[in-house]
Amino acid sequence: MSDIQIAQQATMQEVSQLAEQRLGLAPQHLEPYGRYKAKVSLDVMTEMADRPDGKLILVTAISPTPAGEGKTTTTIGLSDALNRIGKQSLVCVREPSMGPCFGLKGGAAGGGYAQVVPMEDINLHFTGDFHAIASAHNLLAAMIDNHIHHGNELQLDARKIAWQRVVDMNDRALRDIVVGMGGTANGFLRQDRFDIVVASEVMAIFCLSNSLHELKQRLGDILIGYSTDGTPRYAHEIKAHGAMAALLKEALKPNLVQTLENNPAFVHGGPFANIAHGCNSVVSTKMALKLSDYVVTEAGFGADLGAEKFINIKCRKAGIKPDMAVVVATVKALKYHGGLALKELAEENLGALQAGLANLQKHLDNLQQEFGLRCVVAINHFVQDSDEEIALIENAVKQMGAEAILARHWAEGGAGAEALAHKVVAMLEQDSTACDFLYPDEMGLWDKIGEVAKRLYGADQVVAEKKVLDKIAMLNEQHGSMPVCMAKTPYSFSSDAALRGAASNHTLTVRDVRLSHGAGFVVVLCGDVMTMPGLPKRPAAERIDIDDDGTITGLF
Ligand code: ADP
Ligand code: MG
Repeated sequence: MSDIQIAQQATMQEVSQLAEQRLGLAPQHLEPYGRYKAKVSLDVMTEMADRPDGKLILVTAISPTPAGEGKTTTTIGLSDALNRIGKQSLVCVREPSMGPCFGLKGGAAGGGYAQVVPMEDINLHFTGDFHAIASAHNLLAAMIDNHIHHGNELQLDARKIAWQRVVDMNDRALRDIVVGMGGTANGFLRQDRFDIVVASEVMAIFCLSNSLHELKQRLGDILIGYSTDGTPRYAHEIKAHGAMAALLKEALKPNLVQTLENNPAFVHGGPFANIAHGCNSVVSTKMALKLSDYVVTEAGFGADLGAEKFINIKCRKAGIKPDMAVVVATVKALKYHGGLALKELAEENLGALQAGLANLQKHLDNLQQEFGLRCVVAINHFVQDSDEEIALIENAVKQMGAEAILARHWAEGGAGAEALAHKVVAMLEQDSTACDFLYPDEMGLWDKIGEVAKRLYGADQVVAEKKVLDKIAMLNEQHGSMPVCMAKTPYSFSSDAALRGAASNHTLTVRDVRLSHGAGFVVVLCGDVMTMPGLPKRPAAERIDIDDDGTITGLF
């Protein structure tokens, strides 16, 4: 059965009952969007400020491969399993972007028997958060062009506008465009571009803000461009931030839905994992920690990028720390890291698996030694996996100082991940020191990049052209205390996507840096980053359909 067929067979609980029975939320805390989705009032945070936080479990993974790893699926499966063994657990994941739904990727709400529902709604429009974020973003764009049109008091240089436009669609024709055509009534002619909504700095700000107050302040801090004399100009200087925040008022409230097994889930916020930090909203994670004993959340890409930014950016800004990590690995992906081609992955191959384990080992070493974070490995089971392959991983992981647990949540739901849940609970019951940031705020930007590259990526040097070094030095003067947001290929520890396994002794080349002033980090570009994806030759949209009674098909 396909993911969407499984999702459509789910018997959902009314969201108001779910909220009350499972999270103790009163009716006044809840703003239902239909029967199965609801926004939760931010008042909960003030009312429950004295409650102790639950345990935060970060689901991360080995370096992604085309074979798929299943972080979201495992996040949901583990939370269902925790609930099954009598613990109170809440899922916190990102909202899917619509663009990829119509392209290659399909939905992003888990898979198999570990999904969040209503699946079609979550993947398409949901509660309108992305529309609100796009509106806030495009309002600022419109106000910038309007400012220039009406006399340009700030002397904005039309060639140095740092703010583009966004739409939640994969649409390559919008990557490079010209606006203001058609004469003097239509503003000034200038080059512009569209990004996908998830790449918007408003999305990153939305996901990092602890409150509406902070949201507005960060929106005001967005760098919009430069005056003709080179002075940086910010969104608050054209008085855009108040209206932008007003547009986001409802969106900022976490979205409550449920898993296939009727356990609660927050699905909220969804920033890019390259030019942004790639995790769900701080607001929903912190609220979840107040409402539940266990919170299972996910960070994008492999642990070198996802977990690193989760800890060094999100946790630093939110004042939270994960209590442990679950590192997802699959037999297939490890064999791919061991050098096999995609079409060879279905067959048993212990040699390739052994070689590919180097990738897992490096991620585990990073998490356990560099961050001081407790880890368990979840082997996300695929039907083709052999018993010998599973045993090989289990033994190897023991040598690495951790334990690997086979999990069958994709095929069996929460029941398939009970062993993993028991292990997680047992580990969390032992005392442990809190995990550490990799670098302190006061370390300079160039040194921060070096820490990440050398300690996590295994690089032996970091290089950049003089003009990039100059730019870093200049940013360091005013913004040196910000964390760095690494934008590197997720497929390798190096900046070369083709180097699988545990590439080491490589050189990391920093190609450019970009200030996300409102979000409060410096993006470090170590390769090409596409901020507006395109659709493939045969887009998934061709197979998506709806019948006369409203049943959607083809959304994977
Ligand atoms: P990630 O969060 O790491 O990107 P997802 O959990 O979204 O990965 O899973 C990606 C895809 O792989 C989904 O379509 C999901 O149904 C599929 N998948 C995940 N785990 C399994 C599995 N054990 N067997 C088969 N397919 C799986
Ligand atoms: Mg995911």
